[in-house]
Amino acid sequence: MKNFVVLGGGTAGWFAAFELRRLFGAGVSVTVVESPRVGAIGVGEGGILNFPAALVGRYGIDLDAFLEGTGAVFKLGFEYIGWNNGRDDDVFYHLFHSLPTEGDGRVIDGIAPYWSMLAAHGIGIHHAIYSLPFVLANASQREVRSACEASGGLMPWSLHFDAHRVSAWLKLAGMARQIETHVGNVVELVRDAESGHVHGLRFEGEERTMPCDFLIDASGFARIALQKAMGMQFRSFTDCMILDRAIPFYIPHPRANPHLVTSALAMNAGWMWQIPVRERVGCGYVYSSAHLSEDEALAEIETRLGHEIEPMPTLRFHAGHFPEVWVGNVMAVGLASGFIEPLEATSIGQMLGQLVMFGETVAQSQGVVPQSTISTFNHRNLLDWDGIRDFLCLHYDVRRRDTPFWRDVASRPLPTSYTDLKAAWQLRTPRPVDFNAYRAGHVLHFDATSWFSVGQGVGVVPQAAAQADLGMLPREVVRFAEAFLDSVRIRNAATMHM
Ligand SMILES: Cc1cc2nc3c(=O)[nH]c(=O)nc-3n(C[C@H](O)[C@H](O)[C@H](O)COP(=O)(O)OP(=O)(O)OC[C@H]3O[C@@H](n4cnc5c(N)ncnc54)[C@H](O)[C@@H]3O)c2cc1C
Repeated sequence: MKNFVVLGGGTAGWFAAFELRRLFGAGVSVTVVESPRVGAIGVGEGGILNFPAALVGRYGIDLDAFLEGTGAVFKLGFEYIGWNNGRDDDVFYHLFHSLPTEGDGRVIDGIAPYWSMLAAHGIGIHHAIYSLPFVLANASQREVRSACEASGGLMPWSLHFDAHRVSAWLKLAGMARQIETHVGNVVELVRDAESGHVHGLRFEGEERTMPCDFLIDASGFARIALQKAMGMQFRSFTDCMILDRAIPFYIPHPRANPHLVTSALAMNAGWMWQIPVRERVGCGYVYSSAHLSEDEALAEIETRLGHEIEPMPTLRFHAGHFPEVWVGNVMAVGLASGFIEPLEATSIGQMLGQLVMFGETVAQSQGVVPQSTISTFNHRNLLDWDGIRDFLCLHYDVRRRDTPFWRDVASRPLPTSYTDLKAAWQLRTPRPVDFNAYRAGHVLHFDATSWFSVGQGVGVVPQAAAQADLGMLPREVVRFAEAFLDSVRIRNAATMHM
Protein backbone atom coordinates (compact mmCIF):
# COMPACT_ATOMS: atom_id res chain seq x y z
CA MET A 1 0.00 0.00 0.00
CA LYS A 2 1.43 3.32 -1.08
CA ASN A 3 -1.44 5.79 -0.90
CA PHE A 4 -3.05 6.45 2.45
CA VAL A 5 -5.88 8.97 2.41
CA VAL A 6 -7.38 10.53 5.53
CA LEU A 7 -10.82 11.91 4.74
CA GLY A 8 -11.23 14.80 7.18
CA GLY A 9 -8.93 17.41 8.66
CA GLY A 10 -10.40 17.70 12.14
CA THR A 11 -8.55 16.60 15.28
CA ALA A 12 -9.22 12.93 14.50
CA GLY A 13 -7.98 13.21 10.91
CA TRP A 14 -4.77 14.94 11.85
CA PHE A 15 -3.90 12.57 14.68
CA ALA A 16 -4.63 9.65 12.32
CA ALA A 17 -2.26 11.17 9.74
CA PHE A 18 0.43 11.50 12.43
CA GLU A 19 -0.05 7.83 13.32
CA LEU A 20 0.31 6.81 9.66
CA ARG A 21 3.45 8.92 9.34
CA ARG A 22 4.82 7.26 12.46
CA LEU A 23 4.14 3.84 10.94
CA PHE A 24 5.36 4.35 7.40
CA GLY A 25 8.42 5.86 5.80
CA ALA A 26 8.73 8.45 3.07
CA GLY A 27 7.88 5.92 0.32
CA VAL A 28 4.25 6.02 1.42
CA SER A 29 2.08 9.06 0.79
CA VAL A 30 -0.33 10.29 3.45
CA THR A 31 -2.89 12.85 2.27
CA VAL A 32 -5.42 14.64 4.46
CA VAL A 33 -8.54 15.80 2.64
CA GLU A 34 -10.61 18.69 3.95
CA SER A 35 -13.85 20.09 2.66
CA PRO A 36 -13.87 23.81 1.76
CA ARG A 37 -17.44 23.94 3.08
CA VAL A 38 -17.56 21.76 6.20
CA GLY A 39 -15.30 23.02 8.96
CA ALA A 40 -13.83 20.94 11.78
CA ILE A 41 -15.57 20.88 15.17
CA GLY A 42 -14.22 23.14 17.91
CA VAL A 43 -16.52 23.96 20.79
CA GLY A 44 -14.18 23.96 23.78
CA GLU A 45 -12.79 20.45 24.31
CA GLY A 46 -10.76 18.75 26.96
CA GLY A 47 -8.45 15.81 26.84
CA ILE A 48 -8.03 12.91 29.22
CA LEU A 49 -4.72 11.39 30.25
CA ASN A 50 -3.87 9.87 26.89
CA PHE A 51 -3.91 13.28 25.22
CA PRO A 52 -0.50 14.50 26.46
CA ALA A 53 0.79 10.93 26.17
CA ALA A 54 -0.10 10.94 22.48
CA LEU A 55 0.83 14.52 21.74
CA VAL A 56 4.21 14.66 23.40
CA GLY A 57 5.10 10.99 23.88
CA ARG A 58 3.85 9.16 20.81
CA TYR A 59 3.92 11.94 18.20
CA GLY A 60 6.85 13.93 19.60
CA ILE A 61 5.20 17.34 19.52
CA ASP A 62 6.86 20.15 21.43
CA LEU A 63 4.53 21.05 24.31
CA ASP A 64 5.58 24.71 24.54
CA ALA A 65 5.02 25.28 20.84
CA PHE A 66 1.64 23.54 21.06
CA LEU A 67 0.48 25.58 24.07
CA GLU A 68 1.67 28.80 22.44
CA GLY A 69 0.06 28.02 19.09
CA THR A 70 -3.31 26.74 20.31
CA GLY A 71 -3.98 28.62 23.56
CA ALA A 72 -4.42 25.25 25.32
CA VAL A 73 -4.19 25.26 29.13
CA PHE A 74 -3.61 22.66 31.82
CA LYS A 75 -6.47 20.44 32.98
CA LEU A 76 -6.45 18.42 36.20
CA GLY A 77 -9.87 16.78 36.03
CA PHE A 78 -13.58 17.51 36.29
CA GLU A 79 -15.87 19.37 38.67
CA TYR A 80 -19.53 18.36 39.00
CA ILE A 81 -21.96 20.98 40.26
CA GLY A 82 -25.58 20.35 41.15
CA TRP A 83 -25.78 16.74 40.00
CA ASN A 84 -27.38 15.45 43.19
CA ASN A 85 -29.77 18.24 44.08
CA GLY A 86 -29.39 21.08 41.56
CA ARG A 87 -27.74 23.46 44.02
CA ASP A 88 -24.48 25.34 43.39
CA ASP A 89 -22.99 24.10 46.68
CA ASP A 90 -23.51 20.47 45.61
CA VAL A 91 -19.99 19.84 44.25
CA PHE A 92 -17.81 16.80 43.74
CA TYR A 93 -14.59 16.31 41.80
CA HIS A 94 -13.17 13.66 39.54
CA LEU A 95 -9.48 14.56 39.50
CA PHE A 96 -6.92 12.74 37.36
CA HIS A 97 -5.19 10.18 39.53
CA SER A 98 -4.23 6.53 39.37
CA LEU A 99 -4.75 3.85 41.97
CA PRO A 100 -1.91 3.96 44.50
CA THR A 101 0.35 1.02 43.66
CA GLU A 102 3.27 1.83 45.94
CA GLY A 103 3.80 2.77 49.57
CA ASP A 104 1.56 2.11 52.57
CA GLY A 105 -1.61 2.98 50.65
CA ARG A 106 -0.99 0.57 47.79
CA VAL A 107 -3.74 -1.65 46.49
CA ILE A 108 -4.10 -4.95 48.35
CA ASP A 109 -6.29 -7.62 46.77
CA GLY A 110 -7.97 -4.89 44.74
CA ILE A 111 -8.70 -2.68 47.75
CA ALA A 112 -7.19 0.83 47.82
CA PRO A 113 -6.89 1.21 51.63
CA TYR A 114 -6.60 5.01 51.62
CA TRP A 115 -9.62 5.48 49.37
CA SER A 116 -11.67 3.02 51.42
CA MET A 117 -10.69 4.67 54.71
CA LEU A 118 -11.77 8.12 53.46
CA ALA A 119 -15.00 6.78 51.95
CA ALA A 120 -15.80 4.81 55.11
CA HIS A 121 -15.76 8.15 56.93
CA GLY A 122 -17.90 9.90 54.31
CA ILE A 123 -14.99 11.92 52.92
CA GLY A 124 -14.67 12.40 49.14
CA ILE A 125 -11.47 10.77 47.91
CA HIS A 126 -10.67 13.93 45.93
CA HIS A 127 -9.59 15.45 49.27
CA ALA A 128 -6.55 13.19 49.19
CA ILE A 129 -5.61 14.02 45.63
CA TYR A 130 -2.54 16.15 45.24
CA SER A 131 -4.07 18.52 42.70
CA LEU A 132 -7.14 19.65 44.70
CA PRO A 133 -5.41 22.58 46.49
CA PHE A 134 -4.22 23.90 43.10
CA VAL A 135 -7.76 23.74 41.73
CA LEU A 136 -9.30 25.44 44.76
CA ALA A 137 -6.62 28.16 44.83
CA ASN A 138 -7.06 28.80 41.07
CA ALA A 139 -3.31 28.40 40.63
CA SER A 140 -1.64 29.96 37.61
CA GLN A 141 -0.53 27.94 34.60
CA ARG A 142 3.10 28.37 35.58
CA GLU A 143 2.46 27.16 39.16
CA VAL A 144 0.56 24.13 37.92
CA ARG A 145 3.13 23.20 35.35
CA SER A 146 6.01 23.27 37.81
CA ALA A 147 3.94 21.36 40.41
CA CYS A 148 3.08 18.68 37.83
CA GLU A 149 6.73 18.38 36.84
CA ALA A 150 7.90 18.22 40.47
CA SER A 151 5.22 15.74 41.58
CA GLY A 152 6.95 12.64 40.21
CA GLY A 153 3.76 11.51 38.48
CA LEU A 154 1.48 12.25 41.45
CA MET A 155 -0.23 15.06 39.59
CA PRO A 156 -1.24 13.67 36.19
CA TRP A 157 -2.51 16.30 33.79
CA SER A 158 -4.18 16.81 30.47
CA LEU A 159 -5.16 19.92 28.53
CA HIS A 160 -8.17 22.09 27.83
CA PHE A 161 -8.24 23.34 24.25
CA ASP A 162 -10.35 24.27 21.26
CA ALA A 163 -10.33 21.35 18.80
CA HIS A 164 -10.67 23.75 15.90
CA ARG A 165 -7.40 25.47 16.79
CA VAL A 166 -5.77 22.13 17.55
CA SER A 167 -6.56 20.76 14.09
CA ALA A 168 -5.31 23.98 12.44
CA TRP A 169 -2.07 23.74 14.42
CA LEU A 170 -1.63 20.02 13.73
CA LYS A 171 -2.07 20.77 10.04
CA LEU A 172 1.00 23.03 10.03
CA ALA A 173 2.99 20.51 12.07
CA GLY A 174 1.79 17.69 9.79
CA MET A 175 2.79 19.47 6.60
CA ALA A 176 6.29 19.79 8.04
CA ARG A 177 6.25 15.97 8.37
CA GLN A 178 5.50 15.44 4.69
CA ILE A 179 1.80 14.89 5.16
CA GLU A 180 0.05 16.25 2.09
CA THR A 181 -3.24 18.11 2.10
CA HIS A 182 -6.01 18.49 -0.42
CA VAL A 183 -8.97 20.84 -0.13
CA GLY A 184 -12.01 19.45 -1.89
CA ASN A 185 -15.50 18.19 -1.24
CA VAL A 186 -15.68 14.41 -1.51
CA VAL A 187 -18.80 13.33 -3.42
CA GLU A 188 -18.06 9.65 -3.96
CA LEU A 189 -15.88 6.83 -2.73
CA VAL A 190 -15.00 4.62 -5.69
CA ARG A 191 -15.26 0.99 -4.58
CA ASP A 192 -14.29 -2.33 -6.08
CA ALA A 193 -17.49 -4.16 -7.07
CA GLU A 194 -16.28 -7.50 -5.68
CA SER A 195 -14.27 -6.74 -2.55
CA GLY A 196 -15.97 -3.47 -1.65
CA HIS A 197 -12.52 -1.92 -1.07
CA VAL A 198 -12.24 1.80 -1.66
CA HIS A 199 -9.70 2.55 -4.35
CA GLY A 200 -10.42 6.19 -5.11
CA LEU A 201 -12.12 9.41 -4.05
CA ARG A 202 -14.06 11.71 -6.35
CA PHE A 203 -14.40 15.41 -5.63
CA GLU A 204 -17.02 17.97 -6.52
CA GLY A 205 -15.93 19.93 -9.60
CA GLU A 206 -12.78 17.84 -10.22
CA GLU A 207 -12.11 15.48 -13.09
CA ARG A 208 -9.50 13.28 -11.51
CA THR A 209 -9.99 10.46 -9.02
CA MET A 210 -7.60 10.50 -6.06
CA PRO A 211 -6.04 7.01 -5.74
CA CYS A 212 -6.39 5.32 -2.38
CA ASP A 213 -4.99 2.04 -1.01
CA PHE A 214 -6.23 2.56 2.54
CA LEU A 215 -8.79 5.10 3.72
CA ILE A 216 -9.15 6.56 7.18
CA ASP A 217 -12.62 8.06 7.42
CA ALA A 218 -12.38 11.04 9.77
CA SER A 219 -15.21 12.97 8.16
CA GLY A 220 -16.91 13.80 11.47
CA PHE A 221 -20.69 13.64 11.63
CA ALA A 222 -20.78 13.43 7.78
CA ARG A 223 -19.75 9.76 8.29
CA ILE A 224 -18.99 9.37 4.62
CA ALA A 225 -17.55 5.83 4.53
CA LEU A 226 -19.27 3.62 7.11
CA GLN A 227 -22.67 5.29 7.00
CA LYS A 228 -23.12 6.84 3.56
CA ALA A 229 -21.03 4.62 1.28
CA MET A 230 -21.24 1.28 3.09
CA GLY A 231 -24.47 1.53 5.09
CA MET A 232 -22.89 -0.20 8.08
CA GLN A 233 -25.00 -0.99 11.11
CA PHE A 234 -24.96 1.67 13.87
CA ARG A 235 -25.17 0.65 17.52
CA SER A 236 -27.43 3.14 19.24
CA PHE A 237 -27.10 4.04 22.92
CA THR A 238 -30.08 6.38 22.92
CA ASP A 239 -32.10 4.18 25.26
CA CYS A 240 -29.73 4.96 28.13
CA MET A 241 -27.87 8.08 26.89
CA ILE A 242 -30.61 10.54 26.06
CA LEU A 243 -28.84 13.84 25.33
CA ASP A 244 -28.92 14.79 21.64
CA ARG A 245 -28.37 18.56 21.25
CA ALA A 246 -25.70 21.05 22.23
CA ILE A 247 -25.68 24.86 22.11
CA PRO A 248 -22.06 26.06 22.25
CA PHE A 249 -21.05 29.64 23.18
CA TYR A 250 -18.16 31.56 24.72
CA ILE A 251 -17.85 33.63 27.89
CA PRO A 252 -14.93 35.67 29.28
CA HIS A 253 -12.84 34.16 32.07
CA PRO A 254 -14.69 34.55 35.39
CA ARG A 255 -11.47 33.89 37.39
CA ALA A 256 -8.01 35.42 37.51
CA ASN A 257 -6.51 32.26 35.97
CA PRO A 258 -8.07 29.60 33.75
CA HIS A 259 -9.98 27.11 35.87
CA LEU A 260 -8.01 23.86 36.17
CA VAL A 261 -10.96 21.51 35.80
CA THR A 262 -13.80 21.13 33.31
CA SER A 263 -16.95 22.32 35.07
CA ALA A 264 -20.07 20.26 34.42
CA LEU A 265 -23.08 22.17 35.76
CA ALA A 266 -26.27 20.12 35.97
CA MET A 267 -29.20 21.88 34.26
CA ASN A 268 -32.94 21.22 33.94
CA ALA A 269 -32.56 18.86 30.96
CA GLY A 270 -28.85 18.04 30.77
CA TRP A 271 -25.71 19.88 31.76
CA MET A 272 -23.46 22.78 30.78
CA TRP A 273 -19.74 22.42 30.10
CA GLN A 274 -17.29 25.22 30.87
CA ILE A 275 -13.85 24.66 29.38
CA PRO A 276 -11.22 27.40 29.54
CA VAL A 277 -8.55 28.13 27.00
CA ARG A 278 -6.05 30.94 27.39
CA GLU A 279 -8.26 33.73 26.05
CA ARG A 280 -11.79 32.72 27.09
CA VAL A 281 -14.08 29.93 28.27
CA GLY A 282 -15.84 27.63 25.79
CA CYS A 283 -19.25 26.62 27.10
CA GLY A 284 -22.24 24.67 25.91
CA TYR A 285 -25.56 23.37 27.11
CA VAL A 286 -25.93 19.74 26.11
CA TYR A 287 -29.55 18.74 26.53
CA SER A 288 -32.33 16.36 25.59
CA SER A 289 -34.55 17.70 22.80
CA ALA A 290 -37.37 15.47 24.08
CA HIS A 291 -37.45 17.62 27.21
CA LEU A 292 -36.52 21.11 26.06
CA SER A 293 -36.85 23.30 22.96
CA GLU A 294 -33.90 25.30 21.67
CA ASP A 295 -35.49 28.57 22.87
CA GLU A 296 -36.09 27.13 26.33
CA ALA A 297 -32.52 25.89 26.47
CA LEU A 298 -31.21 29.33 25.52
CA ALA A 299 -33.40 31.02 28.12
CA GLU A 300 -32.22 28.60 30.79
CA ILE A 301 -28.55 29.30 29.99
CA GLU A 302 -29.06 33.06 30.23
CA THR A 303 -30.98 32.77 33.50
CA ARG A 304 -28.31 30.52 34.99
CA LEU A 305 -25.44 32.80 33.93
CA GLY A 306 -27.31 36.06 34.57
CA HIS A 307 -26.44 37.57 31.17
CA GLU A 308 -27.17 37.18 27.48
CA ILE A 309 -25.03 34.92 25.32
CA GLU A 310 -24.26 34.68 21.62
CA PRO A 311 -24.97 31.05 20.76
CA MET A 312 -23.22 29.21 17.94
CA PRO A 313 -25.37 26.94 15.74
CA THR A 314 -26.92 24.06 17.66
CA LEU A 315 -25.23 20.68 17.17
CA ARG A 316 -27.30 17.50 16.81
CA PHE A 317 -26.13 13.99 17.56
CA HIS A 318 -27.39 10.54 18.55
CA ALA A 319 -25.43 8.56 21.09
CA GLY A 320 -23.86 5.43 19.66
CA HIS A 321 -21.11 4.05 17.47
CA PHE A 322 -20.34 1.69 14.60
CA PRO A 323 -19.48 -1.77 16.01
CA GLU A 324 -17.21 -2.43 13.02
CA VAL A 325 -14.93 0.52 12.49
CA TRP A 326 -12.34 -1.29 10.36
CA VAL A 327 -13.93 -2.81 7.26
CA GLY A 328 -11.73 -3.99 4.40
CA ASN A 329 -9.34 -1.14 3.60
CA VAL A 330 -11.29 1.50 5.50
CA MET A 331 -11.14 2.50 9.15
CA ALA A 332 -13.31 5.22 10.71
CA VAL A 333 -12.04 7.32 13.61
CA GLY A 334 -13.38 10.18 15.72
CA LEU A 335 -16.93 11.38 15.22
CA ALA A 336 -17.14 9.39 11.97
CA SER A 337 -16.97 6.23 14.09
CA GLY A 338 -19.30 7.31 16.90
CA PHE A 339 -20.05 9.76 19.69
CA ILE A 340 -21.88 9.46 22.99
CA GLU A 341 -21.84 12.94 24.49
CA PRO A 342 -19.24 15.41 25.80
CA LEU A 343 -19.29 14.27 29.46
CA GLU A 344 -15.83 13.21 30.72
CA ALA A 345 -14.21 14.28 27.44
CA THR A 346 -14.17 10.74 26.10
CA SER A 347 -14.36 11.39 22.35
CA ILE A 348 -10.78 12.41 21.61
CA GLY A 349 -9.53 9.99 24.28
CA GLN A 350 -11.33 7.08 22.57
CA MET A 351 -10.01 8.18 19.18
CA LEU A 352 -6.40 8.31 20.40
CA GLY A 353 -6.74 4.90 22.05
CA GLN A 354 -8.08 3.45 18.81
CA LEU A 355 -5.17 4.90 16.84
CA VAL A 356 -2.65 3.36 19.24
CA MET A 357 -4.35 -0.02 18.86
CA PHE A 358 -4.37 0.42 15.06
CA GLY A 359 -0.68 1.35 15.04
CA GLU A 360 0.23 -1.67 17.17
CA THR A 361 -1.86 -4.00 15.02
CA VAL A 362 -0.35 -2.80 11.75
CA ALA A 363 3.22 -2.70 13.07
CA GLN A 364 3.04 -6.16 14.64
CA SER A 365 1.48 -7.63 11.49
CA GLN A 366 4.10 -5.97 9.28
CA GLY A 367 1.13 -4.60 7.40
CA VAL A 368 -0.25 -8.07 6.53
CA VAL A 369 -3.37 -8.13 8.70
CA PRO A 370 -5.63 -11.21 8.61
CA GLN A 371 -9.40 -10.72 8.82
CA SER A 372 -9.50 -12.50 12.21
CA THR A 373 -7.16 -9.83 13.59
CA ILE A 374 -9.37 -7.08 12.18
CA SER A 375 -12.43 -8.73 13.80
CA THR A 376 -10.61 -8.87 17.15
CA PHE A 377 -9.60 -5.24 16.72
CA ASN A 378 -13.23 -4.26 16.17
CA HIS A 379 -14.35 -6.30 19.17
CA ARG A 380 -11.79 -4.69 21.48
CA ASN A 381 -12.79 -1.28 20.19
CA LEU A 382 -16.44 -2.09 20.94
CA LEU A 383 -15.56 -3.05 24.52
CA ASP A 384 -13.92 0.36 24.89
CA TRP A 385 -17.22 2.01 23.87
CA ASP A 386 -19.05 -0.21 26.39
CA GLY A 387 -16.75 1.04 29.14
CA ILE A 388 -17.30 4.68 28.20
CA ARG A 389 -21.08 4.22 28.03
CA ASP A 390 -21.20 2.51 31.43
CA PHE A 391 -18.96 5.14 33.04
CA LEU A 392 -21.27 7.85 31.72
CA CYS A 393 -24.34 5.90 32.96
CA LEU A 394 -22.81 6.09 36.45
CA HIS A 395 -22.82 9.91 36.27
CA TYR A 396 -26.57 10.00 35.63
CA ASP A 397 -27.36 7.50 38.38
CA VAL A 398 -28.15 10.40 40.70
CA ARG A 399 -30.78 11.13 43.31
CA ARG A 400 -32.35 14.28 41.87
CA ARG A 401 -35.90 13.99 40.52
CA ASP A 402 -36.87 17.67 40.34
CA THR A 403 -37.53 18.01 36.57
CA PRO A 404 -39.13 15.69 33.98
CA PHE A 405 -35.64 15.12 32.50
CA TRP A 406 -34.10 13.96 35.76
CA ARG A 407 -37.14 11.77 36.48
CA ASP A 408 -36.87 10.18 33.02
CA VAL A 409 -33.13 9.71 33.49
CA ALA A 410 -33.88 7.79 36.68
CA SER A 411 -36.29 5.44 34.91
CA ARG A 412 -34.26 4.71 31.75
CA PRO A 413 -33.09 1.15 31.17
CA LEU A 414 -29.46 0.67 32.18
CA PRO A 415 -27.06 -1.86 30.65
CA THR A 416 -26.68 -4.98 32.79
CA SER A 417 -22.90 -4.60 32.54
CA TYR A 418 -23.38 -1.42 34.60
CA THR A 419 -26.12 -2.64 36.97
CA ASP A 420 -24.06 -5.76 37.80
CA LEU A 421 -21.16 -3.55 38.89
CA LYS A 422 -23.47 -1.29 40.86
CA ALA A 423 -24.89 -4.29 42.72
CA ALA A 424 -21.37 -5.42 43.65
CA TRP A 425 -20.47 -1.94 44.88
CA GLN A 426 -23.20 -2.09 47.49
CA LEU A 427 -21.02 -4.69 49.24
CA ARG A 428 -17.50 -3.48 48.43
CA THR A 429 -15.93 -0.59 46.51
CA PRO A 430 -14.83 -0.61 42.82
CA ARG A 431 -11.85 -2.87 42.11
CA PRO A 432 -9.49 -2.97 39.11
CA VAL A 433 -10.79 -6.44 38.20
CA ASP A 434 -14.27 -4.92 37.64
CA PHE A 435 -13.04 -3.12 34.54
CA ASN A 436 -11.25 -5.96 32.75
CA ALA A 437 -14.43 -6.48 30.74
CA TYR A 438 -13.88 -3.13 29.05
CA ARG A 439 -10.18 -3.52 28.54
CA ALA A 440 -9.57 -6.84 26.73
CA GLY A 441 -5.87 -6.08 26.47
CA HIS A 442 -6.58 -2.61 25.15
CA VAL A 443 -6.61 0.81 26.82
CA LEU A 444 -8.64 1.59 29.92
CA HIS A 445 -9.40 5.30 29.98
CA PHE A 446 -10.70 5.45 33.54
CA ASP A 447 -9.28 3.24 36.28
CA ALA A 448 -10.91 2.27 39.59
CA THR A 449 -10.05 5.66 41.15
CA SER A 450 -12.20 7.43 38.56
CA TRP A 451 -15.19 5.12 39.08
CA PHE A 452 -14.72 5.42 42.84
CA SER A 453 -14.63 9.25 42.71
CA VAL A 454 -17.76 9.56 40.61
CA GLY A 455 -19.54 6.63 42.29
CA GLN A 456 -18.99 8.27 45.65
CA GLY A 457 -19.97 11.68 44.27
CA VAL A 458 -23.36 10.50 43.02
CA GLY A 459 -23.97 8.14 45.95
CA VAL A 460 -23.75 4.87 44.00
CA VAL A 461 -20.82 3.67 46.12
CA PRO A 462 -22.11 3.82 49.70
CA GLN A 463 -20.11 4.40 52.88
CA ALA A 464 -20.98 0.88 54.04
CA ALA A 465 -19.15 -0.67 51.07
CA ALA A 466 -15.95 1.11 52.08
CA GLN A 467 -16.44 0.07 55.71
CA ALA A 468 -16.73 -3.53 54.53
CA ASP A 469 -13.40 -3.12 52.66
CA LEU A 470 -11.66 -2.10 55.87
CA GLY A 471 -12.82 -5.28 57.58
CA MET A 472 -10.97 -7.29 54.90
CA LEU A 473 -7.61 -5.55 55.30
CA PRO A 474 -4.78 -6.60 57.64
CA ARG A 475 -4.80 -4.63 60.91
CA GLU A 476 -1.45 -3.01 60.17
CA VAL A 477 -2.70 -1.65 56.83
CA VAL A 478 -5.79 -0.24 58.53
CA ARG A 479 -3.52 1.59 61.00
CA PHE A 480 -1.58 3.19 58.14
CA ALA A 481 -4.87 4.19 56.54
CA GLU A 482 -6.10 5.74 59.80
CA ALA A 483 -2.96 7.84 59.99
CA PHE A 484 -3.58 8.87 56.38
CA LEU A 485 -7.17 9.83 57.24
CA ASP A 486 -5.91 12.08 60.06
CA SER A 487 -3.42 13.78 57.74
CA VAL A 488 -6.11 14.41 55.10
CA ARG A 489 -8.45 15.84 57.75
CA ILE A 490 -5.78 18.25 58.99
CA ARG A 491 -4.75 19.29 55.47
CA ASN A 492 -8.32 19.90 54.30
CA ALA A 493 -9.92 21.28 57.45
CA ALA A 494 -11.27 24.30 55.56
CA THR A 495 -12.81 22.44 52.60
CA MET A 496 -13.93 19.16 54.14
CA HIS A 497 -17.62 19.97 53.74
CA MET A 498 -17.36 19.25 49.98
C1 LIG B 1 -21.01 19.26 21.71
C2 LIG B 1 -19.69 18.56 21.63
C3 LIG B 1 -18.78 18.66 22.67
C4 LIG B 1 -17.57 17.95 22.63
N1 LIG B 1 -16.71 18.00 23.69
C5 LIG B 1 -15.61 17.22 23.69
C6 LIG B 1 -14.69 17.17 24.79
O1 LIG B 1 -14.82 17.89 25.77
N2 LIG B 1 -13.64 16.33 24.71
C7 LIG B 1 -13.44 15.54 23.65
O2 LIG B 1 -12.51 14.75 23.66
N3 LIG B 1 -14.24 15.60 22.57
C8 LIG B 1 -15.31 16.41 22.58
N4 LIG B 1 -16.12 16.42 21.49
C9 LIG B 1 -15.77 15.67 20.31
C10 LIG B 1 -14.60 16.33 19.59
O3 LIG B 1 -14.91 17.66 19.25
C11 LIG B 1 -14.27 15.52 18.36
O4 LIG B 1 -14.13 14.16 18.73
C12 LIG B 1 -12.96 15.95 17.77
O5 LIG B 1 -12.94 17.31 17.54
C13 LIG B 1 -12.68 15.19 16.50
O6 LIG B 1 -13.61 15.53 15.53
P1 LIG B 1 -13.44 14.83 14.12
O7 LIG B 1 -12.09 15.12 13.63
O8 LIG B 1 -13.88 13.44 14.23
O9 LIG B 1 -14.54 15.57 13.20
P2 LIG B 1 -14.61 17.09 12.69
O10 LIG B 1 -13.85 18.02 13.53
O11 LIG B 1 -16.06 17.37 12.48
O12 LIG B 1 -13.87 17.06 11.27
C14 LIG B 1 -14.51 16.54 10.13
C15 LIG B 1 -13.65 16.80 8.92
O13 LIG B 1 -14.22 16.14 7.81
C16 LIG B 1 -14.22 16.99 6.71
N5 LIG B 1 -15.32 16.63 5.80
C17 LIG B 1 -16.61 16.44 6.12
N6 LIG B 1 -17.31 16.16 5.01
C18 LIG B 1 -16.43 16.18 3.97
C19 LIG B 1 -16.54 15.98 2.56
N7 LIG B 1 -17.69 15.69 1.96
N8 LIG B 1 -15.43 16.10 1.82
C20 LIG B 1 -14.23 16.39 2.38
N9 LIG B 1 -14.08 16.56 3.69
C21 LIG B 1 -15.16 16.48 4.48
C22 LIG B 1 -14.38 18.38 7.27
O14 LIG B 1 -13.88 19.37 6.38
C23 LIG B 1 -13.52 18.27 8.53
O15 LIG B 1 -12.19 18.58 8.21
C24 LIG B 1 -17.30 17.17 21.51
C25 LIG B 1 -18.19 17.12 20.43
C26 LIG B 1 -19.38 17.79 20.49
C27 LIG B 1 -20.34 17.68 19.33
